[in-house]
Parts: sequence; structure tokens; C-alpha cells
Amino acid sequence: MIKYNLDKIHSEIDKYASLVVVSKNRSDEEFMEAYNCGERNFGENKVQEIVRKAGIMPSDVHWHMIGHLQKNKVKYIAPFITLIHSVDNTELLKEIDKQAGKNQRAIQVLLQVYIASEESKYGLSAEEMFKILKQTNEFPNVKITGLMGMATLTSDLNRIRSEFKILKDLFLKAQSEPNIHNTEFSTLSMGMSGDYQIAIEEGSTLVRIGSLIFE
Ligand SMILES: *Cc1c(COP(=O)(O)O)cnc(C)c1O
Repeated sequence: MIKYNLDKIHSEIDKYASLVVVSKNRSDEEFMEAYNCGERNFGENKVQEIVRKAGIMPSDVHWHMIGHLQKNKVKYIAPFITLIHSVDNTELLKEIDKQAGKNQRAIQVLLQVYIASEESKYGLSAEEMFKILKQTNEFPNVKITGLMGMATLTSDLNRIRSEFKILKDLFLKAQSEPNIHNTEFSTLSMGMSGDYQIAIEEGSTLVRIGSLIFE
């Protein structure tokens, strides 16, 4: 079933976007089933779990941190993380820069922008996002390679589409910021199980899908 689901998703997205398999709350067996189908990009939302899995899973897995990240936990994922999708404040960016330096590597991150109309979602305002893009010189060990956003959890497809349109628009504006030209700003992480088709239509380059694969 996992293979069938993955094949279906790939047939829909591969021309436009890459897939992060969201393995949060999944067993190690389910994880390995997706791995054995050829998946290599996996996303988790808890530091403890991503560190645990990174310790036991094959070494060619690319790990994506997609959940809210606390400053004091950056050090645990800094040695191996491929992409942090959820940077939503400057202090966090500062800490990622510091830990990247300690590990003598550059860490790639996305700025998470708030596009939903729900109070509970994390993320930067557009204004805060642009402010950070003007300060990239202060974070030499961090590569800001794009934006991430989550649409409102709603059955109103027009609303989801318009939120993704807002994020795409911000992405294009951010790409023309002079300061970011030393790094490639090419990733737009949007779309989950319930809305990835709309996200693709609106320009997503990276979708994060969990339940649709494993259920
Ligand atoms: C859980 C999660 C996903 C995947 O959600 P599904 O609906 O299971 O596909 C994607 N992005 C983030 C940030 C998540 O926390």
C-alpha cells in the first residue's frame, strides 16, 4: 500500500516538485518500507525522534526538520540535518549559525512564513522575513534556500489556494532581494496530504506528505 501511494504521488508531482516523506509518528518498519521504495528524504517534527531515527536508519537518508524548533535543541541536529524548514525567528537563526560553525558545515534552512488564518501556526510575517533576508551577512554558516508555509486547515479550497498564492508571491519577491544572491534561493516548501495538488499548481517545489503515504 505504501508503494502504491508513493507511486501515485510521484506520478503527480515529479515534474514539478520533490517529496519529503513525513515519518513522524510512524513505526521504524513503516519508515523502512518507504526507504525500500527508494525514498531518501524524510521529515520529522521532534528533535528527539529525528535524532533517534538518525542513529538507527541507513546513513544515506536526508533528514528534514519540519516542526517548531527550540533554540536549545539545535545542537542535537546540527551535525547531520539536511534542511531545517521551520526557522521562524532571528535568535534561532543565530543559534543555527553558531552550531553550524562548531560542526564546520553550512546548514540549509527555509524561513517559515505565516500564511494561515489560524492562531496556532508558527511563522514569520512577511515583514520579518524580509528583515532577516537583509541580515544574511550576519549568519555566514547558514544558507537560506527558500520559504516554507502551511495553509489553513480548511475544506475551503479557494482559501488554501489564495494562501499558497501569497507565499509564492513572497517567494518571488524574496528572490529579487540583492542580499541573497550569494546563495541559491530556489525552494518553496508547501503542500501536505490534504492540499499538495493545489500547492503544486501554485508553484511548490517541495511537498511534505505523511498520512496519505502511510494510511
Ligand atoms: C505533519 C506535517 C506534515 C505532513 O502532514 P500530513 O497531513 O500527514 O501529510 C507536513 N508538514 C508539517 C510541518 C507537519 O507537521
